Amino acid sequence: MKICIIGTGYVGLVAGTCFAESGNDVICVDVDEAKIEGLKNGVIPIYEPGLKELVLRNCEEGRLSFTTDLASAVKASLVNFIAVGTPPGEDGSADLQYVLDVARTIGRNMESFKILVDKSTVPVGTADKVRAVVNEELEKRHATIEFDVVSNPEFLKEGAAIDDFMKPDRVVIGTDNVRTAEIMKELYAPFMRKTNRLIVMDIRSAEMTKYAANAMLATKISFMNQIANLCERMGADVSAVREGIGSDSRIGYDFLFPGVGYGGSCFPKDVKALVKTAEECDYEFILLKAVEEVNELQKLVLTDKINLRLGDNSLLKPLTGKTIAIWGLSFKPRTDDMREAPSVVIINRLLALGAKVCAHDPEAVKEAKKIFGENIVYSNNQYDILKGADALAIVTEWNEYRNPDFDRIKSLLRQPLIFDGRNLYQPSRMKEAGFEYLPIGRNGRH
Ligand code: NAD
Repeated sequence: MKICIIGTGYVGLVAGTCFAESGNDVICVDVDEAKIEGLKNGVIPIYEPGLKELVLRNCEEGRLSFTTDLASAVKASLVNFIAVGTPPGEDGSADLQYVLDVARTIGRNMESFKILVDKSTVPVGTADKVRAVVNEELEKRHATIEFDVVSNPEFLKEGAAIDDFMKPDRVVIGTDNVRTAEIMKELYAPFMRKTNRLIVMDIRSAEMTKYAANAMLATKISFMNQIANLCERMGADVSAVREGIGSDSRIGYDFLFPGVGYGGSCFPKDVKALVKTAEECDYEFILLKAVEEVNELQKLVLTDKINLRLGDNSLLKPLTGKTIAIWGLSFKPRTDDMREAPSVVIINRLLALGAKVCAHDPEAVKEAKKIFGENIVYSNNQYDILKGADALAIVTEWNEYRNPDFDRIKSLLRQPLIFDGRNLYQPSRMKEAGFEYLPIGRNGRH
């Protein structure tokens, strides 16, 4: 099948590459000329495990190409996936300008039947808006060309995007057109080996499904963060509590890890957008507002602990003279994505409290430099930054932090003090090893 993917970010590039891998002819389009030029030369703009090999192979075999020329790409394709960003606008609602720009360009250039697929996360009712702008463009040209708009939200996770796309838990297709549903089923058939769960529904329900999924996951995280904070105050261990509740099949173990708050390009903006959507229909989504508030507060927990333990309140900036080593900058492991990463709030707060910050991350240093500039020190070696630091604070749970050389850590730090925002280690073992160890929600009796 001939496919056009518009937007070559985390979603578009992965989707385009995976569709090419399953034998389709795919043209990926982006407005970012440097990105497209790089991709043409085999430079992958993001870090996503396994992506580079797949892109290179499919380019070599002639099934995957890159362009900035949307008009020609649309003319050559039957199915056109819109995978551009939908960042939060000033009021928290999803900014649809990029999606609608693309729809307009398609309307201006299409010459035969086209399927437009909303792959971006877009609020309920967006497919109607896309249809309206395409119709406007067709009317301007006095053209009568059939087209269809489909909602096909994406559920991949950064860091495991290829696997998620190739073996999805489910694919959701929102359409009221039987013929289009069949084309979409054919396109996704190669990826249906794990679950064979392709769910066809009406467009508005498909649009809502994506927000409901992310809102539910964010709720689980905020819920567990509050349970953890309470555990700390009550002498209970949140890890044991997680085992205890996760074993209930109605609850499950996933997404019950407390930490420093959720981040990334999806949960924060999608929760905000759903709250806003609700407001627009005079409905107050009380629960989600609380989920957001809890998340903002959770980003302060680690710095509060650091300040309480190391701060000198007689100083205007209580952490003056202290150096904190940070492990992990990206919003989660196996990605270089720094969008809404809790590390940003944590580091800015440490700096505001007067601390010096040195940081390590296996992939996100380049992105982090765009945010912190020269205000912090970076290193490619996770141990180098520990030398002379007053404490280590773990912010992202990269695998390389799970089993470190504790003797080395101890010999480098000024004192054996670890604040763990991701609960990577056993408190009892850390005690035996001579560390003062402050995880989240686990300060109970061990
Ligand atoms: P991204 O910011 O990484 O990529 C978006 C790309 O679109 C950029 O390369 C940008 O240059 C390009 N673009 C913008 N306007 C364009 C235009 N008019 N024509 C062509 N290209 C244009 O975004 P992303 O993380 O891939 O997310 C895309 C959408 O998918 C968002 O709605 C997001 O919510 C959703 N989503 C993201 C994830 C994720 O994990 N990142 C998962 C599921 C869904």
